[in-house]
Amino acid sequence: MKSLILTQSGLQLGDTPMPSLLPGEVRVEVRSVGLCKSDLSIWKGEMETDLPIILGHEFSGFVHESTIPSLEPGTPVTAEIDRFCGRCYYCQNGMHQQCTNRKTLGITTDGALTEYISLPAEMIHVLPDGIDHIAGTFAEPLSSAIATAQRAPAAKDEIVAIIGSGRLGILTAQVYDALGAEVYLIGKNRWKLGLARQLGFSHVLNDSQDGWEKELLDATDGVGPRLVVDVTGTHEGLHTALDIVRNGGTLALKSVIGADGGISPSEIVRRELQIVGSLRGPFEDALDMLAKGRIEVKRLVSRQFSLDEGPAAFEYATRPDVTKVIINI
Ligand SMILES: [Zn+2]
Ligand SMILES: [Zn+2]
Repeated sequence: MKSLILTQSGLQLGDTPMPSLLPGEVRVEVRSVGLCKSDLSIWKGEMETDLPIILGHEFSGFVHESTIPSLEPGTPVTAEIDRFCGRCYYCQNGMHQQCTNRKTLGITTDGALTEYISLPAEMIHVLPDGIDHIAGTFAEPLSSAIATAQRAPAAKDEIVAIIGSGRLGILTAQVYDALGAEVYLIGKNRWKLGLARQLGFSHVLNDSQDGWEKELLDATDGVGPRLVVDVTGTHEGLHTALDIVRNGGTLALKSVIGADGGISPSEIVRRELQIVGSLRGPFEDALDMLAKGRIEVKRLVSRQFSLDEGPAAFEYATRPDVTKVIINI
């Protein structure tokens, strides 16, 4: 079967064996794959992993063959990103996302930029009626955004500042908005900030312009918001977050790629800040939000490519005016 493989010399189409089907597994015929920042970071060599690898972890498809009667061939599905061990402390205590033996699709084990993938049935989620394959690719990043809002919740009408106007920033903003918070979205990219405005956000701030924080300070008694989410993972994003969060407030960090060591422990102590991380989230909630139309994902898709055009799709995804690139298999 055809796969897009990342080797030492770059991305190339290749032939890989059809995956076997073990008891308890489902083989999925992949339909659509969304490119994520981690796919691009591995491809650019900014994030290390063992090569060769098949990238891609935000995907949807049909059940091709199944050892589980309830998952019949032809059922539209998406899947979680981690293969869990089921035996470690975390797996036994409902924290699969912290499994000490986990293998992550497209990051530490082969992912979905291929025609077929076999996965344990626990990783599979059926797409609800009305959710097509393109929307289905958003279940994973959306679940991750939901995890942030669950670990760092906002009260109704409370002001939340979100730093980062890319795809995950906009998804996270939509989640907090859907849960009743008042979102201030902060970024630099004028094109993406414009898209956020088109999606209905009225507090969209460009922090490369002088005085950008005035509106946010005015709305928060001059002390800044209690809750700031940084999805950028950059030193700059982190410093902006520290600059605007009020003393005693919470900083929710989202990106797994980027600047480490940008926060001084003494500042956390002096200002009595709380730091909250969140990694994976509940797919059920993500699919429910998509099915109820509470999150707009289609307008985040910049362009779709075929698997044969895979290398071009990765190149395209690095453009500044691109939010989401989909590869259809
Ligand atoms: Zn992702
Ligand atoms: Zn485990």
